[in-house]
Amino acid sequence: MRTIRRWLRLFILFAVIGALSAAGIHAYEWISDKTATSTLQVEAASYDTTPIIVLDAGHGGYDTGSISYDGVYEKDITLAITQKTGELLQKAGYSVVYTRIDDEVSWSDDNKDDLRTRVAIAEEAAADYYISIHTNASTYGDGASGFEAYLNYENETIAAMASSIESNLMELQYTQSRGLKSTEDTSLYVIDSNSVPAMLLELGFITDSADAAYMSSEDGQNAIAQSIAQGIMEHL
Ligand SMILES: [Zn+2]
Repeated sequence: MRTIRRWLRLFILFAVIGALSAAGIHAYEWISDKTATSTLQVEAASYDTTPIIVLDAGHGGYDTGSISYDGVYEKDITLAITQKTGELLQKAGYSVVYTRIDDEVSWSDDNKDDLRTRVAIAEEAAADYYISIHTNASTYGDGASGFEAYLNYENETIAAMASSIESNLMELQYTQSRGLKSTEDTSLYVIDSNSVPAMLLELGFITDSADAAYMSSEDGQNAIAQSIAQGIMEHL
C-alpha cells in the first residue's frame, strides 16, 4: 500500500508541475499577443489616424487685409496668431499644414486664385479640418468690436470646435462675442467650396482700438493662439 501511495503522490506531483508549466507558457503567449496588438495600435495611430489641421493665415503678400488706426496690417496679425496656434498643435502631436508661413504667398494677386489655392492646399493635404484666421473691420471708432466665427453646421466636430474656441476666447475678456454664424446666411468661399470641414474666425475688430491693441500684442496673440489650439484639441 505504501509503495502505491508513494507512486500516486509522485504522479500527482508531476501532473501538477506539468499543468503549471503549460499554463505558464499560455500566459506568456497571451501577454506577448496583447503586447503585439497594442504596438500595432500605436503605430496605426501615429501613421494613419493623426488628424491633419490646415491653418490658414488670412490675406498675405499683395493683400494686407484691413489696417488698424495705428497702421498694423491684418495679414501680420493673422500670420503671428496662426504660427503660434500651429506650434501648440504640433507640440501636442498633431499634423499642421499652413497655407503660408510668411508674407510670401504661393498664389497670384487675383482674389479668386488666392482663395482657390488656399482650398486646394487643404484638399491636396487630405486634411481633416481647415481653420481660417482673420480680423474683422468696420469704420474706425464706430463702436463695432468682438469675436465671431463662420462655419457650416453640417459638420458637428467643426461646430463643437467653434463653440469651444468661442468660450475660451471669452474667458480672456479682451472683447465680446458676436456669436457663431452659419455660412447658409453669409456664404464664404473657403468654407462652402471646400471639401474639408472648415471654419473662419474673426478674432476681433482691427478698427476698434481695444481689440486691435490686444490682437497686436505678444501676450494677446499667445493667449488667443492658446484658446484656438485648445478649442480644436478638445474635439480631436
Ligand atoms: Zn480678413
